[in-house]
Amino acid sequence: MAGLFVDDRPAAGYARVAVEQGVDVAGDGLTYAVPAGMAGVVVGARVAVPLGRGNKPASGYVVGLRSVEDGPGEGLEPARVKAVLSVDGDGLTLPAELIELAKWVAGYYACPLGMVFASVLPGGVKRGAGLAKKKVVRWKGGGEGGRGEGSEGRREEALREAGLRVTKQVRAVLAAMTGANEDGVELGALLTAAGVRSAGPVERLAEAGVVSIETRVDLRAGLDVAAERVAARLSDRPTPSADQAAAVARIGDALGAFGVHLLRGVTGSGKTEVYLRLIERLLAETEQGAIVLVPEIALTPQTVGRFVARLGQAGEGRASGGVAVLHSGLTPAQRHAQWQRVRRGDARVVVGARSAVFAPMRDVGLIVVDEEHESSYKQDQLPRYHARDVAIKRGQMAGAAVVLGSATPSLESWHHAKSGRYGLFELPRRVPGLNVPRVEVVDLVEERRAQRGIHLISQRLEHELRTTLDKGKQSLVLLNRRGFASWVACPDHRCGWQMACERCDAMMVFHLRGGDASNENGRDVPRGYVRCHHCEAQRMLEQHCPVCGKRTTLFGLGTQRVETELAQKLPGARVERMDRDTMTRPGDYERVLSRFEAGEIDVLLGTQMIAKGLDFPGVRLVGVISADTAIHLPDFRAAERTFQLVSQVAGRAGRGSEPGVVIVQSFDPTVDAIARAVAGDYAGFAEAELATRAEAGLPPWRRMARVVLRDRDQAACHRRAAATADAVQSAIDREAAQQRATMRGPMACAMARLADHHREQVVLLADDAGTLQRVLTSARNHDRLVSDAHTAIDVDPVALL
Ligand code: ADP
Ligand code: ZN
Ligand code: ZN
Repeated sequence: MAGLFVDDRPAAGYARVAVEQGVDVAGDGLTYAVPAGMAGVVVGARVAVPLGRGNKPASGYVVGLRSVEDGPGEGLEPARVKAVLSVDGDGLTLPAELIELAKWVAGYYACPLGMVFASVLPGGVKRGAGLAKKKVVRWKGGGEGGRGEGSEGRREEALREAGLRVTKQVRAVLAAMTGANEDGVELGALLTAAGVRSAGPVERLAEAGVVSIETRVDLRAGLDVAAERVAARLSDRPTPSADQAAAVARIGDALGAFGVHLLRGVTGSGKTEVYLRLIERLLAETEQGAIVLVPEIALTPQTVGRFVARLGQAGEGRASGGVAVLHSGLTPAQRHAQWQRVRRGDARVVVGARSAVFAPMRDVGLIVVDEEHESSYKQDQLPRYHARDVAIKRGQMAGAAVVLGSATPSLESWHHAKSGRYGLFELPRRVPGLNVPRVEVVDLVEERRAQRGIHLISQRLEHELRTTLDKGKQSLVLLNRRGFASWVACPDHRCGWQMACERCDAMMVFHLRGGDASNENGRDVPRGYVRCHHCEAQRMLEQHCPVCGKRTTLFGLGTQRVETELAQKLPGARVERMDRDTMTRPGDYERVLSRFEAGEIDVLLGTQMIAKGLDFPGVRLVGVISADTAIHLPDFRAAERTFQLVSQVAGRAGRGSEPGVVIVQSFDPTVDAIARAVAGDYAGFAEAELATRAEAGLPPWRRMARVVLRDRDQAACHRRAAATADAVQSAIDREAAQQRATMRGPMACAMARLADHHREQVVLLADDAGTLQRVLTSARNHDRLVSDAHTAIDVDPVALL
């Protein structure tokens, strides 16, 4: 294959290229020769290279360079090294700093480098979405060809001499071109102006060398950040409280250097105001930019609007401001346009979800991670990175300040703050004008005794819902479980049959058909179907127990059941349900929220979707149907999650001038996580939970990595798990890390069967990140432990099912 190898052309050096391909491609890149005369092969450049035996062209990023003298590297023969095929235009070049960050992510999270780049670069950018190619016609030869000089007669003469037949159409085209400047005229527009149907006459003029027809690439995709509506309400700059001012001053003074600052502020304490003032200071005092990460679900026009309203005029006063927005709700073309604005330096502030931590900003001075405790910052597929931790690494590499904000910080961050590794700033009070809501607990066990029949809504909550409705105010009702009933079973406990998923270790959940909640009455089983929430398998409801023939019964709770009950208890109230079943189309979420904000909904019922970052002054009441839904999950973070969810949703109440009310229902209100959340005692909860974790040797005291093996065949799954355990244990021994690292497993996962696959796991715990990395790297190098279709390596896992 001529041209693939460089032996016919001298190499100008060698490039290491991370190829975006499946997991089977080499870990940290492949070596290619740079043909002499090929310009632009720099670290961060996007190139095309031949891949595999078939030499199929593939895209990748240059991650390292070597000179000719250095040679291609160990074990490679210069003559056998394939050559780079081409360099992509400048448009996709990444800052060298991002290349370093990607390398760190690949190493730390045990993921092939090429796959990290697949995450770094949004799909729309890769495909060039929104790149409109247009044809432009220009005068050739310094814009002459007869323009401006002399008469039309002389020009036509010259054209005839050049062998061109000057038709009426050619004349019309020339006339239409008369006003054209250096930039030329778009072909379609030119033909319209000349009244000519086909491009033929223009092509003939081009052949005669009078004009040129060029293809130009144009990136257009406006982004309406829907800021105006919110801007009016938020563009004022409130006077900072003493706590806010102290945080702004002290973090502000630390801006020019790396440092992590944890901002713990109760909900409604004005954390966003602190971020805004820090960014304003950064923009005013430096040339640097800021990245603001928020959880995807909180990326509403409301959040974005606050940043655009305040910082829109920052930078160079462009129409849409100095703020770029990056999240999955944008069209690929919009994402591409936003990404390019950042890359070109047009936007000095980026607000985005998880992957915005890889925004192609060149000089980052500040990174904010809002709601840093959110588990959605962890990506659940390759690369399994945690955006908060990547943000900290990026801050360290860039010498930037990192601000982590939350009302309920992760125990990891709290632990670091308490041990002095992070700065700690607290906003213990709500901003002036916002009242602290009154929080009450309803013990559902007692409630069951007092009330006949099964009610998901207690009398106390029902009363407050009515009062709120009568006052013309709004309520939020949380139940973190979809569907109508969480399981279906035989009513005879001696029989014990339960309807389980055929493919998973999970119960089938009953859903009402088409949101029809009207026919749920008395003993009749309503119409609907059952679905597995893990593999989404769907089946008909078993009307009768297949073992003993008794009529099946629905147990447990779900948002649909609450919706039914709300309809019965609050006739006439405008109730809207928000969960993954009702929010199916893009824009659904925003549509419901803006209707809620406009006061068109009285009760907004939903899963954790409604707990995040919403700020609506009309909300008087927050009801938690069951604070217990997560507490018994087989995950060491179950208590932490429960505490966070209850605290976060409670914080949505009383954001207007009137004091709010929060009613928390629970079957076990004495559980520490629930009792402390109700009392608003974060510090107390954290202290107790940290002590429990210390005793059990769990994060944040130790670091964890988890390897999950899956296979349709149980024996094969177990063989792999055993081999993985061997690999990890030998790595611990090889690294002489027995004192600092321990392995658990192989053992069945909490969900031992998922979508027809058996699952086993091996868990590695180490005293520090360095040891964890040494052991993992050793296992990867020595025993080829890699993530593949059967193996998922998860470093610092947040989900343990
Ligand atoms: P958090 O993010 O801590 O929950 P927010 O930043 O959303 O709190 O602030 C809550 C509300 O208080 C916002 O509407 C904000 O504009 C307003 N606010 C912030 N700081 C002040 C202040 N110092 N004085 C008055 N209002 C403020
Ligand atoms: Zn299933
Ligand atoms: Zn039965």
